[in-house]
Amino acid sequence: MKFREKLASFMYGRYGNDQLGNFMMWTYVVLLIINLFVSSVTLYTLSIILVCLTVFRMFSRNVNARNKENLKFLAIRKKFLSFFKLQFDRTRDMRRKVYKKCPSCKAVVRLPRKSGKHAVVCPSCKNRFSMKIMPFAALLSLIITIFLALIALIVLLIIFI
Ligand SMILES: [Zn+2]
Repeated sequence: MKFREKLASFMYGRYGNDQLGNFMMWTYVVLLIINLFVSSVTLYTLSIILVCLTVFRMFSRNVNARNKENLKFLAIRKKFLSFFKLQFDRTRDMRRKVYKKCPSCKAVVRLPRKSGKHAVVCPSCKNRFSMKIMPFAALLSLIITIFLALIALIVLLIIFI
């Protein structure tokens, strides 16, 4: 048998790769690169576990279970991406727009930034609520965002170095 046929018959009935597998491989690569600079045993152990899990998933015959894991991963990834997109839009529009969650359906409503009290009608559930826009709120939220990002960075450094 040629190598390709051998490989195909070995992989028959096994799961193979998916988006979760790709994500795990890329995370592994990123961990390796970070570890070049910090050389932490924790990171090294994590990356080895990650590779073992990735290989285990590829060669697993329990296709159903692996598929479920991938679907879960895709759902979480979607949530993350929409969260970051929202934060990005928020920061980009900070001087002109205000983002506010509807207290009834949790949809995010975008309003022009004019300080004072406003009556708002939620476009998705038609719920009416009022909100106050304070002057300098944009500056304040920028400062808080930077502060939180700094704390997150310090915590990561403490954990991995
Ligand atoms: Zn609503």
